Amino acid sequence: MAVQTVATTSDSADTVDLGPASGLSCRECGERFALGPVFACEACFGPLEVAYDLPGGDPEELRARIESGPDNIWRYAPLLPVPADVAGKPNLNPGFTRLVRADNLARELGVTGGLWVKDDSGNPTHSFKDRVVAQAIEAARAFGFTTLSCSSTGNLAGAVGAAAARAGFRSCVFIPHDLEQGKVVMAAVYGGELVGIEGNYDDVNRFCSELIGDPAGEGWGFVNVNLRPYYAEGSKTLAYEICEQLGWRLPDQIVIPIASGSQLTKIDKGLRELIALGLVEDRPYRIFGAQAEGCSPVSAAFKAGHEVVRPQKPDTIAKSLAIGNPADGPYVLDICRRTGGAVEDVTDEEIVDAIKLLARTEGIFTETAGGTTLGVARKLIEAGVIDPALTTVVVNTGDGLKTLDAVAPTTGMSAVIRPNLDSFREAGLV
Ligand SMILES: *Cc1c(COP(=O)(O)O)cnc(C)c1O
Ligand SMILES: [Zn+2]
Repeated sequence: MAVQTVATTSDSADTVDLGPASGLSCRECGERFALGPVFACEACFGPLEVAYDLPGGDPEELRARIESGPDNIWRYAPLLPVPADVAGKPNLNPGFTRLVRADNLARELGVTGGLWVKDDSGNPTHSFKDRVVAQAIEAARAFGFTTLSCSSTGNLAGAVGAAAARAGFRSCVFIPHDLEQGKVVMAAVYGGELVGIEGNYDDVNRFCSELIGDPAGEGWGFVNVNLRPYYAEGSKTLAYEICEQLGWRLPDQIVIPIASGSQLTKIDKGLRELIALGLVEDRPYRIFGAQAEGCSPVSAAFKAGHEVVRPQKPDTIAKSLAIGNPADGPYVLDICRRTGGAVEDVTDEEIVDAIKLLARTEGIFTETAGGTTLGVARKLIEAGVIDPALTTVVVNTGDGLKTLDAVAPTTGMSAVIRPNLDSFREAGLV
């Protein structure tokens, strides 16, 4: 397969079966292209996204068809860029993670309208990234790639490694060399190649762009670069699941973390599709974006009223969100403004507090990204920006076991005692 970066209208898609996906369209100028491993518009260099022939007809019928599907993202296969028989192919079958009604947390935060945590730590490699990789794998199969790759802030590397192992691809993934041990080990254990780059995520991403244009990268599918349009669609399943689990109802408010901003933009796309298909009642919803203060380019632009995002050099414990130059930043700003939402950021200390708050109230141990999201939710509730009387969903995208260092200094044993009752009494715990 020839290495391509820019779409041309002459690409042939005769043999590509990605279900309802009918082509790619430019998010800037609307130009249409055939399905292929491309991500930028030939006319304006804008990002491409998947366009669909979505199923028409009776919403009741589609809802019933979804509900009778498998307990994973493939129940939504009619709405995704995957072949109809995707559930029978070797993949990790992520998704349909639990939506936890968080009444203890709601009480603590003063939320009366209902608060839920969408807990994506329950995915096969313990982050939401399994959803997006599962789409990219199908595109990689369709386009004949044999090696899977990515630039990663940590979780994606593990998701690609695991999915490649199961689906029979070679993998070679790239991360900043100084990530948390939990993420490094998790990315390496599946047996693929893991390469640490001396630099931050934005350096890793730039390196991968160079590799795509070089013969050394020939035959490689970079899930979040040349397969990005397909990859990104996986985040729509978070929107589908949240609404289905709420009884086919839109939440009023949803709080989502931002790294590149891809997840947030595709959750919005998923919600709009459900409305267009008649699967949920059309009513207003508000989308809120969460960043860490130490990497807050989108939040800074939102607060300043800017339409462009000025890149930052990340310095935060929320490493999975540490993208200083987020590709989807301007689209995130559009969505949060259009829906009446906001983008906010919290300090590393507030992130740690929020991790402990979620653990203490609901028994969910999230990673620093989840601490960021809940920290921002708390801040916006306290500021009166998020309405406590409306339904609110906080998306937990990762697992605290991967970022133990964030909480280890301030958690630990209550006491170390000798194995007898006197010693226990002396410890002052009764
Ligand atoms: C990658 C990641 C995100 C955000 O992803 P984008 O789509 O790039 O904004 C959020 N949380 C976790 C845990 C992640 O690994
Ligand atoms: Zn264009």
